[in-house]
Amino acid sequence: MRHIAIIGSGPAGYYTAEAAQKRWGDEVRVDIFDRLPVPFGLIRSGVAPDHQSIKAVSRRYEKVALADNVRFVGNVAVGKQVSIPELQALYDAVVLATGAPQDRPMGVPGDDLANVFGSAGFVGWYNGHPQFATLAPDLSGTTAAVIGMGNVALDVARILAKTPAEFAGSDIVGHALEALADSNIERILILGRRGPHQIAMTPKELGELGELSRATPVVLPEDLPPPEADALLEPGLRKSVAHLRHFASTPEEERAGKSVRIEFVFFVQTLALHGDGRVQEIEVERTRLTEGGRCEGTGETLRLPVELVVSAIGYRTSPIPGVPYDERAGHFANEDGRISAPSDVGGLYCVGWARRGPTGTIGTNRPDGYAVVERIAEDLESAGQFAEKQGRAGFDALAAERGLDVVTFRDWKKIEEAEERAAREGSPREKFVDVEAMIKARQ
Ligand SMILES: Cc1cc2nc3c(=O)[nH]c(=O)nc-3n(C[C@H](O)[C@H](O)[C@H](O)COP(=O)(O)OP(=O)(O)OC[C@H]3O[C@@H](n4cnc5c(N)ncnc54)[C@H](O)[C@@H]3O)c2cc1C
Repeated sequence: MRHIAIIGSGPAGYYTAEAAQKRWGDEVRVDIFDRLPVPFGLIRSGVAPDHQSIKAVSRRYEKVALADNVRFVGNVAVGKQVSIPELQALYDAVVLATGAPQDRPMGVPGDDLANVFGSAGFVGWYNGHPQFATLAPDLSGTTAAVIGMGNVALDVARILAKTPAEFAGSDIVGHALEALADSNIERILILGRRGPHQIAMTPKELGELGELSRATPVVLPEDLPPPEADALLEPGLRKSVAHLRHFASTPEEERAGKSVRIEFVFFVQTLALHGDGRVQEIEVERTRLTEGGRCEGTGETLRLPVELVVSAIGYRTSPIPGVPYDERAGHFANEDGRISAPSDVGGLYCVGWARRGPTGTIGTNRPDGYAVVERIAEDLESAGQFAEKQGRAGFDALAAERGLDVVTFRDWKKIEEAEERAAREGSPREKFVDVEAMIKARQ
């Protein structure tokens, strides 16, 4: 029997479990740990609440979760309530699938002012992540700045721009829906250091900005490269740039009646945020592209009035005591998913965002999960006769001894049912936004 502990129940964790099931069938037992009592990582707390079809991928993970050889071990923070060496003593392999939940810091003066948030916090707020449910962003100002030119920036801008009616069918949490309904924001700036050809926004998500009921995307024609230059772009990016061209060519009279403008501000880098306790201005420097496609400051600076700032400039994995960490890259130090821990008992791996950083789509984590299982299989085989470890039974004894309140997959299904019962009209669920309420709901 092989015993595998996977830490993190997001896409990377579940694809790894699926791969282990396929590889070893009834010869494996997999425990998937999560610090939250609810599974699925960013599928629940990252993917936008108005993108329900994307969230449906969790049904696939549920199939994996319901098999006898896989268990969900929720409400257990690894590195705090149980250590990595303790798990290594019990399981043949320990796979860190903990994602990258920390915002990359902006690192500019004023980034600690009130009403300045990283996207992990802001997205967690509207998606009901218990850590961020009480964030309470102030939406009483008229201008918001979203820093970054990727899909997360697009999500944040779109959520800020939508009317309450446009959230029909979504599972945006009640506190966010109410706050957004009272929002005064009428100008959303999306700021990027480089130009239209350097965006990391996918066509479908970008196209959505053109279909909002009260908001209109604005691109300055002079920011766009000559149209013939688009021919050199890879097809996805070319489609995204076509959307930007369309936004740039929209006549002003077509924008009449739209009360919210989403303005793309290319070629600026943030120098500082200013305000008296609370953010009031963003100071940026104009940039230009060098021959090599990098950007450099021009020395020309400007200040834009803003009352809310959300930076969507990337994420970092949270370090775990004793696990080697690549500070520069912001994820666990690893070679193809293998982690060489100083203790060197072996059998420690990482996968998904915790292995490669915050890139790719949900599906990118699938080959990652299958590859790490191949590494584990190679290592177990090359070790020859491996020690029969205690696996689940050993962990259950440890959990009992330590008084851990483990949430099972069956408990989660009860929490899920309670969320579905509490749903407002037309919504799939009303999420619990604090851990205590989640745990209570399983009874
Ligand atoms: C705002 C946002 C929107 C996105 N939208 C899309 C989209 O529309 N389409 C798409 O394809 N991709 C999207 N993505 C990307 C997608 O969410 C990621 O590719 C994917 O979630 C990464 O999977 P993961 O398993 O590595 O990490 P995660 O999904 O982050 O899962 C990590 C899990 O580990 C748990 N954990 C962390 N630390 C510990 C610990 N110490 N002990 C126990 N458990 C722990 C966490 O609670 C979490 O459940 C989006 C990402 C973000 C941030």
